Parts: sequence; structure tokens; C-alpha cells
Amino acid sequence: MVRLSISERLAEQERNDRKRKERLFEAAKTFARKCAGSTNVHEVALCGSMVTEDPYPQDIDLAIVVDSFSDLPLIARAARQITSTYHGWEVFVFRPDRTYAGRICHRRECPTQTARCDKIDCSRVPHLGNLADFDFDPVLFLSPPIEILWCRESKSVLINWKEALGARATEQTHYRPITLKCDCGNQFIFSVGEQKYFADRGFRRPKRCESCHIRREFGPEAATLLEEINDEKEC
Ligand SMILES: [Zn+2]
Ligand SMILES: [Zn+2]
Repeated sequence: MVRLSISERLAEQERNDRKRKERLFEAAKTFARKCAGSTNVHEVALCGSMVTEDPYPQDIDLAIVVDSFSDLPLIARAARQITSTYHGWEVFVFRPDRTYAGRICHRRECPTQTARCDKIDCSRVPHLGNLADFDFDPVLFLSPPIEILWCRESKSVLINWKEALGARATEQTHYRPITLKCDCGNQFIFSVGEQKYFADRGFRRPKRCESCHIRREFGPEAATLLEEINDEKEC
């Protein structure tokens, strides 16, 4: 049986994060390709942490500029297909005159009397929610880097808008997987996904490795069983 060293495991973790991000990126590009089929779509852009150095984006945030709402059903369908890769997506809809129109609803049928449609205030335009209590702040939205995935014309509405606002990239935390040391002497990996999970909830760094944690929670038999499973996986 082959036990990977901590540095090998760290490298593997980084490789997995990279692969995950590539997969999400592919899903975004597929969405852009499908939207490009509509003559009403002006451009599709990727924004948020997907475009930054962040190794573990939590959302696929997309922006789309449309000349009219007539192809929203097509756009909404393309967006829902992202879900097969990753459920955490949002598509922000804009008009060429730099107005924010709303977000694409996640439901197949919209509006419905469901919590989700209700929450994002779907009613005026099918497939488009408009968060009643959501104040859109273009500076905040356009400050992080933006990557244009597809644009009908040479001039991107979003990039021009961003430049007009003088919006510059904001400072952000750079995450990477790190190793921590347990009281038992074992080193273990604190992955980027875990770091974000902990940070979101205001938790402190974990103090124990997985087997010490299991031993404490479920007793020594469970910890031994876990070690056996892990050894088998690494064979
Ligand atoms: Zn809806
Ligand atoms: Zn331990």
C-alpha cells in the first residue's frame, strides 16, 4: 500500500481544485456559446471569483447584455443546464443602456408561486427575477475582473461601463490549501473549500486531524475503520 506524503497530498489537493475550476469554466463557456445563438444577446461575461486567482470559486457569476427579453426562455434554459456541472450559478441581466434588469430565475417554469420565484421577485418578465430588496451597485459589481466570453460587437458594454466608472479590482483574500498539525503529531490538509466553509461560519481552524476528530466524535472503532478505508483508497 502506498501512503502519500503530506506534500504529495497537498499537490494533489491543488490539482483537484484546479480541475474543479476548469470544469466550472467549461460550463460557463458552454453557456456563452448557447447564448451566442440568440440575435438578441449582445455579450456574455464571466465575473466574480471565477475570473480571479481564487482557486476555489463558490459561484459561477455570469453577466449577459440583451437587446430584448424575447430570448429569455432560451437563456434561462442554457443557464439551468449549468446545474448539471454546478448548482451555484447566477446570471445577471443587463441592457445596452447600462441598466440592470435582474437575475435569471433557476426554475423551469417562471413565475410560479414558489419560494424561489417569490424570493427573487419573479413576475413582471418570465424567467427574470428582480430582487425587490436588492440594490444593484454597478461599482461593486464591476470592480472585480471581468472576462468577456463572447461579444457580438467589438465594443463590450460591460467593459466600457467598467472603464467609465473607473472601477478597479478590489483587494481580496487569496486562498490556498495549507497543512495543519494535529496534537497527535499528524499533519493534515486544510483545503480551500474547507477554509471558506469555516470562514463563512466564523469557525476557527480545525485543531484535529480527521482520525482524531472521528475518534473523539464516534469512538476508537470508527477511527480504525476510517484508517482502513483510507489505506484501501491509497492502494
Ligand atoms: Zn421565477
Ligand atoms: Zn490527530
